[in-house]
Amino acid sequence: MSYDYDLFVIGGGSGGIATARRAAGYGAKVGLAEFNDLGGTCVNRGCIPKKLMVYASNFPEWFEDAQGYGWGPVHSTFDWHKMITAVNNEVERLNGVYQRMLDKAGVEQFRAYAKLVDPHTLEVGNRKVTADKILIAVGGHPYMPEEVSGIEHAIVSDDMFHLKEQPKRIIILGGGYIGVEFACIMNGLGSQVTQIIRHKEILRGFDEEIRSGIQEGMQQHGIQVLSSRPVNKIEKTPEGLQVEGVTADVVLAAVGRRPNLNNLGLENAGVDIDRGAIAVDEYSRTTQENIFAVGDCTNRLNLTPVAINEGRAVADTEFGGKEQVMSYQNVPTAVFSTPEAATVGLPEAEAREQYGETIKVYRARFKSTYHSLTGRDERTIVKLVVDEDSDRVLGAHMVGEHAGEIVQGVAIAVKMGATKAQFDATLGIHPSTAEEFVTLR
Ligand code: NDP
Repeated sequence: MSYDYDLFVIGGGSGGIATARRAAGYGAKVGLAEFNDLGGTCVNRGCIPKKLMVYASNFPEWFEDAQGYGWGPVHSTFDWHKMITAVNNEVERLNGVYQRMLDKAGVEQFRAYAKLVDPHTLEVGNRKVTADKILIAVGGHPYMPEEVSGIEHAIVSDDMFHLKEQPKRIIILGGGYIGVEFACIMNGLGSQVTQIIRHKEILRGFDEEIRSGIQEGMQQHGIQVLSSRPVNKIEKTPEGLQVEGVTADVVLAAVGRRPNLNNLGLENAGVDIDRGAIAVDEYSRTTQENIFAVGDCTNRLNLTPVAINEGRAVADTEFGGKEQVMSYQNVPTAVFSTPEAATVGLPEAEAREQYGETIKVYRARFKSTYHSLTGRDERTIVKLVVDEDSDRVLGAHMVGEHAGEIVQGVAIAVKMGATKAQFDATLGIHPSTAEEFVTLR
């Protein structure tokens, strides 16, 4: 049986594009459908525009810090519209970069909605195409908690990149990555921020000291965190939107994301759903043997590099003759909050659960050299979780400036199974914050 394509990819986000390019590189005939802008969540309404806004939000503190170093006061003003325009122009430029990358790889693109008709047939816009193998990489969307009365007054993270005006006061619901990062961005840009979380602390799943370290740091930077407050009502009043006695101009619901599964025709192709996500095995194969799924629509570990890696593993295995599975161990991740945090490997509590009494923790909490002149009481936390039996470093965690950049390097060592003795044998770069990772005793 011959098909129009060896591989047809539904979704032009990080996972879909990476798979399409890798498969085409192996000589496969590849088609890709995307009804929205190329680049998916990460490029259009996630990592990239968010990180640009993080940079924008850092300047006011740097202006203040500069005075400790002898600079005079900086009187600068912030133009929200100018920032949003610049950020969106950069996103548009990246859309073009992705377009050219796919063109160069010889991937045929359809700017249309694709839907499964049967295991080898897709309806793409008003065309029907057939494919030997199909990859579903359709991502996810922000979840709206419908049980909260007045939730229609709230916006989601997608909307943050298109607000016409900067809200003077903003309430953020949720204490995950998105809630925390936007709380810090908006606070840095000068909005009055209240973050309301349903449990005691933000960032469930992260190392406990890192969670409290970030939360305390955020509060120190002026964010009001209302904890243990499950929200069930948003009220619209003449003064603004009211939640838990706080009034604001904008309420951002950042209470998680859900896979995009509607209207994909999964049922026509025998692709099963499990707990709200596309069910896949370790090869990202769905319940239909020629159909694969990667990224947020499978709800495994919803990070861009993970989706890319899952997709490349599919392409290597199916088209490159190299069997690959994605490893979910020691995936590093950062929260671009202020203070920033990053982590790789096991949090202390999880390590103790798995390894028991053999866990030894090394930590340092200190003021970085930079802050010795800024007058800011900012603490950096560096922590290693070690299994004393094997001497292996099981987890590395950090709160402080450049945590993402620093932990990326540490992650190589952790991924390689480095021991504490090998960390100790590495010389520090002095004076730096990163050297603390090799001087912990
Ligand atoms: P998360 O799942 O990370 O966090 C959701 C938050 O909302 C949690 O604090 C949770 O509380 C809270 N929550 C859930 N339901 C309710 C509810 N009904 N009422 C009140 N609070 C609720 O989701 P995000 O939307 O923040 O992010 C989605 C994913 O995107 C992340 O998991 C991450 O994988 C990815 N991401 C990664 C980034 C990065 O790498 N820097 C940045 C942004 C996103 P609790 O946990 O206490 O139950």
